Amino acid sequence: MTSPVLEAPVETKTMRVAVMAGVRDVSVQDMAIPEPGFGQVLVRVRATAICTWEQRSYSGAQHNKFPFVGGHEMAGEVAALGPGTNTDLEVGERVAVGSASCGRCHWCMTGQDRACKGHYGFAQKYGDAWGPGGFAEYRIQAADGVYRIGDAPFEIGALSEPLSCAMHASRMLNLRPAQDVVVIGAGVMGLMNVVAARQYGARVIVSEIDADRLAMAKRMGATELIDASKVDPVERVKELTEGRGAEAVIAAIGHEKANEQGWAMLSDRGRFVLFAAAHPEPAFTISPNDAHNRETGVFGVISGEKQDFYAATRLIRYGLVDLSPLIDIRYPLSEIAAALEHAIKPGTYRVIVEL
Ligand SMILES: [Zn+2]
Ligand SMILES: [Zn+2]
Repeated sequence: MTSPVLEAPVETKTMRVAVMAGVRDVSVQDMAIPEPGFGQVLVRVRATAICTWEQRSYSGAQHNKFPFVGGHEMAGEVAALGPGTNTDLEVGERVAVGSASCGRCHWCMTGQDRACKGHYGFAQKYGDAWGPGGFAEYRIQAADGVYRIGDAPFEIGALSEPLSCAMHASRMLNLRPAQDVVVIGAGVMGLMNVVAARQYGARVIVSEIDADRLAMAKRMGATELIDASKVDPVERVKELTEGRGAEAVIAAIGHEKANEQGWAMLSDRGRFVLFAAAHPEPAFTISPNDAHNRETGVFGVISGEKQDFYAATRLIRYGLVDLSPLIDIRYPLSEIAAALEHAIKPGTYRVIVEL
């Protein structure tokens, strides 16, 4: 089945795009609406969540190539389908933009599509600017990277992407019901890991130094809380696990001490996940003999594969998870600078840009 070319249901042929020209320099510009080509979907973006990549690009904490159009956590409506695009999506459907793949390379053929060159689709062009494009009113995506969210609110749909990353971590860990999992750090990404690990049936222990964040971790489903400002988290994890330590530790904060503690609280056969990037990069030293003797290991997680993104959107679409506590505040696109300033404040969860 192929779909006919459909006229984009828009009154004007231009769209508003928030372009970051440099550190703390963002402005909204008018640009032509892109036209979807073969195999592509044009999405009218309605809500985009501000993640750490955009925050660090804006604040200068992380080097980026400017001009940049940020926003990689987004949801909206199908506006048009490219000619000959093979999809059952219909114009007007609510969707999240997520993981895509070429379907033909080594990584796709072996079920590891995160490593496919087509995975992100971030290299969108907006005049001289590039980026994932959630801060533009329209975004093109390969049809296989557009996922239904049913009647879910756009702002919750926009959280499909961070949830998919956490679903990927839980799947890579091969979590089992009631297994002991520690999440270090209860920022948004730590909390997404709490939600995901609970979906896999795990017993989720959260270690965090901030009392408010611990309370939020409880709200999001954590089964045990460790206030790392008061007790030694390594000892406490051992106490909670009959002396074994945890079979999985997810470090959702990039910090030398978190790495040290996480490694020390692993059980035999334990797996340590480096979930967070940090700038500057923290040190992480492990003893090769200790890893050998106890058969422990470390791996990184950056992004969900298609099956993880699909699972995340189904959890959202069918109301199987409640991510609404993670949204702090909403700003219109015209107030993008204020939205970014708000997002970089410590202690915020997700700031939503409405388009
Ligand atoms: Zn993100
Ligand atoms: Zn591929």
